[in-house]
This record gives sequence, structure tokens and C-alpha cells, in this order.
Amino acid sequence: MALTIEAALLGSKTVGVRCEDGVISALGPEVVAEPGDEVIDAAGAPLVAPLVNGHTHAAMTLFRGSGGDLPLMPWLEERIWPVEAKLDAEDVYWGTRLACAEMIRTGTTRFWDMYWRPEATARAVLDSGIRAAVGAPLFDADGDLGRLQETARRSLEHLTELDSRITPALAPHAIYTVSERALRWIADFGAEHRVPVQIHLSETAEEVDECVATHGVRPAAYLDALGLLNERTVLAHGVWLDPVELELIAERGATIVTNPVANMKLAVGGVFPHPAARAAGVAIGLGTDGAGSNDSLDLLSDLKMFALVQKHAAADPTAVDAAEAWAVATGARAPLLGAGEPLTAGAAADFLLLEPHSAALGIGELTAGLVYAASGSIVDTTVVAGRVLMRGGEVPELEEIVARTAERARRLGL
Ligand SMILES: [Zn+2]
Repeated sequence: MALTIEAALLGSKTVGVRCEDGVISALGPEVVAEPGDEVIDAAGAPLVAPLVNGHTHAAMTLFRGSGGDLPLMPWLEERIWPVEAKLDAEDVYWGTRLACAEMIRTGTTRFWDMYWRPEATARAVLDSGIRAAVGAPLFDADGDLGRLQETARRSLEHLTELDSRITPALAPHAIYTVSERALRWIADFGAEHRVPVQIHLSETAEEVDECVATHGVRPAAYLDALGLLNERTVLAHGVWLDPVELELIAERGATIVTNPVANMKLAVGGVFPHPAARAAGVAIGLGTDGAGSNDSLDLLSDLKMFALVQKHAAADPTAVDAAEAWAVATGARAPLLGAGEPLTAGAAADFLLLEPHSAALGIGELTAGLVYAASGSIVDTTVVAGRVLMRGGEVPELEEIVARTAERARRLGL
């Protein structure tokens, strides 16, 4: 069935949007519903592109509120990794359903995920109606390369051609948890299957020092030497990248996803060098990181943090303007992240309607209001592939999803 949105506000124009077979078939002032269409009267609600969360660990909603004031390594080693060893597919499924519900509620319609039991993540994404690039985290700190290869093979086998809303990916955890020989193998395996590879890089100063001490080069050069820096690579964090590394990343066409809130919460002590990355021509996206280290998945709130921390670090209020921040959060500055085309006929029918009479957006320029005044609660309606996933700020089944996820967290002793 076709879906038609009537009386939405696009810029200063009142438009209709008709969606058929997952794409926008018509958009403009003259577009009205046809007989038999599902119809939404937007009543003057602003129509905007949805957000792309470029880095998260969705099922970590299970860990929200657990160990939240510890430093990175004790947090991972004492609170996260021992519990993760006990996770089963149902835990991951419900944790991801909760994450998807939160993202739908706050305007994110696509995310990049790195988490255990990716088949359960993918099932939750499909049941929720949104889109994701999904990869199993790959580790071989125990020296077991065979098991890492088996995990990578099995997850790709399961995720490839599963559904057009799922993008299969590989997700080596980091250069300090994956061996050099495993990273080389992942580079070849990823190239062979033409899949994206996402990895945490240059999150802490210690990671950089250790890389230089062990390999004689900084992290970006190390990845490049292993064949892992290319147009299919997504680097999460990049806090400590230097200008030479940024030039190299730009030249290789890799994408950096900055996660300012997780970086501040874990107090990594630095800020992603956004102005230098932009000047070098690097593709840049925005992420929340997992709910264990943020703790919110409301990317619209993180968008304000991103803009503010960049202005503050540069001691320059013009370091990032609202239009640029909005472009970064919607994936428009990083084609690999999959934001798709702007809202036009022929584009995927993914979009948001905002509250028509909100206090935060009532006056002044819309983009500035979205970046500096709004949070995800401003989202009224979320549409993905022409399906209405939320209307009137209410995500269907939320009560059950929250209850089931809490049950799983209790089972894990969280
Ligand atoms: Zn992460």
C-alpha cells in the first residue's frame, strides 16, 4: 500500500510526499493522496532527513547504568567483558530491540553496529523496521586466529543477502585487541567480499603510544600498512589522529565517525580534530557509541555536544556551524554511511516529521534550532522504506520491549 504525507513543511514550502515500494514516488506542492493510500496529515510539521548513527553497540542498552563512572579499561575488563561472555541470542535480540526503539523515537533510521551475535542484531533490526550495517566484533587477543576467521565467515554468510535493510560488515575491535596477522587476514577477506570494515581507532593516547612502541608507526599508518585503510573503512573515534594521519585517511577515502559524548564520558582527554579532518577532506559521520558508554542513543542530543565541543576546543564559535553539524549527523558528509540521496522523488522513503508546534523550534532558523535547541523528543513521526515506524511520538510495542529487555538484563545480573 502506498503512503502519502499531506501538508508537510519542506523548507518554506508546503508539500505532499507519496511513497511506493519503499521509495519516494512523488514530492511537491501538488502531491496529494490517491484512493486507497494510507494518509498522514502532517498539519504543517517540518519534514527532514533522518539521522545516521555511525557507530554503536546497540544491544549494550542492557548495560545502561552499569559501571558508568569507571575508566575505559577497568570498565571493559571488570563490568563489560565478563557479562558479555554470558550473553545469548535472546539477550542481544531484546537489547537491540530497545536500542532500535530509542533510535526510532529520536530520529535515527540507520546505524552502524559492532556486537556479539550479529544474527540476533539483524533479526531485531528487521523486526523494528530500521536499517543497519552489522558486524560481529572480531578479537584474537587469545591467539586463536582460527576462531576469529570462523566468526567472520559465519557472520558474513548469515548477513549477506538477508534483507536490503541489513548491510553486512566486518568489525575488528581495535588494533590492541586484534593481532597483526588477523588484521591482515581481515583486510583480504573484506576486500574479497567487498564489505565495509569498522574498527575503533585512536580512542585513547595510550593506544597511540602503544602502537608507536610496538609497530614504530601511528595507528592510521599501521592500518594502512596492513591494507585496512580504504574507502570501505569506518574508523570510530579518531581522537588522537595527527595531521599526517588525517591526510592519509583522506587520501585512502576512509570514513571517521566521531563519538563526542562517549569520549567525554570515558574522559579520553582529547577532542576529535574535526576542523583539521574537514580541511584534509576526510569523510565524517557522528555516532553515539554503545549505551554502556554514552548512555543515550539520542543522536540529536549528541549533535549539540558535537558542535559545542568542537567550538570550545577550537576557542572559535565558527569552528562548526549548524548546517555542517546537521550534514554530519545525517550522513551527508560520509557517503559510505549510507544516508542516501536528499529528500526527492526516487530516493528511499526514509524521513522524519517533527512536532508541528514545538517550543524548541517555533522561532528562528530550523537547522540551528535542531542542532542547538532540540533533542530527539522533537521527532513526531519516523518513516523508513515507506513504513510508519512511529507516529505521534509513540513507538509501538515499547512497553513490552522495555519489560523484556529488563528481564534479560536481570538474568545477566546487571
Ligand atoms: Zn564503540
